[in-house]
Amino acid sequence: MYFDDYDSPVFRPPSEAYSFILRLTRGCAHNKCTYCNMYRGVPFQVLTDEEIERQIMLAHSYNGAGVRRVFLADGDALVLSTERLLKVLATLRRLFPNFERASSYAAPKDILRKSPEELRQLQEAGLKLLYYGMESGDTETLKEIKKGVDGPQSIEVGQRAIAAGMELSVMVILGIAGREGSKRHALATAAALSAIRPTYLGAISLMLYRGSELKEQFERGEFHPLPPAGLMEELYLIIEHLDLPETEHCLFRSNHISNYIPLKATLPKEKPQLLKAIRYSIDELKKMKDWDVYNHDKY
Ligand code: SF4
Repeated sequence: MYFDDYDSPVFRPPSEAYSFILRLTRGCAHNKCTYCNMYRGVPFQVLTDEEIERQIMLAHSYNGAGVRRVFLADGDALVLSTERLLKVLATLRRLFPNFERASSYAAPKDILRKSPEELRQLQEAGLKLLYYGMESGDTETLKEIKKGVDGPQSIEVGQRAIAAGMELSVMVILGIAGREGSKRHALATAAALSAIRPTYLGAISLMLYRGSELKEQFERGEFHPLPPAGLMEELYLIIEHLDLPETEHCLFRSNHISNYIPLKATLPKEKPQLLKAIRYSIDELKKMKDWDVYNHDKY
């Protein structure tokens, strides 16, 4: 094992638990989002061809036939040129006989830098799924959290991935705009999601991570978080205003460790049932006397 290929934290979506995690970069080139501490202190680096090939050969020699899915890491593997990404995907197809698909996080600026034709080439070469942390569709919120794009750009990112034929998993963060911006964030996010029409939709609740800028803002009294019932009120607004065609099958999940109550539905078909479940959750959460959701020093 070459430990220097995994010498800083490696993150992956839960659904990639059985995938071969192939690191193309270390850290995140953007590394500015105020709520994120994932790669703080990790100098951004694009791995060399040799470093990438070494990981692939290791997986090949260990269990080549067992590699079906590959997750391209770290925070924004798509910062690599399309030419290099196509070369990596060609190697995966050549060496792993049961290779089904590659996936990656989609940092917004990486997607906007690539042309529709390049995204289509990547999809055809095996990059079938993108995990897009849109967080919000609201320009003011996106500016506050330093996401690096505005509302219209955040929509364009999602639409480009879908237009390229990729599956798209979009994540939004409940509570990211604090108490003051909650309604604006919810309505703009619902509009953005309606325009994107993602394959999968996830909603996580804001957690204030140690080392993140947002936690420092909270400690200085500059950020006012929503209580648990407020997070669910926000989710209610998003789902209520989400406008998807009847023919759509968007799998909604809100079952992250940060969420108080796990929820799932296929949208738009199960929208009425989902709204009912959220309303019930709001009533239950309002009964909570003490809540300490934002004390996440252990993370
Ligand atoms: S783009 Fe992703 S990994 Fe990079 S700072 Fe933002 S949330 Fe963190």
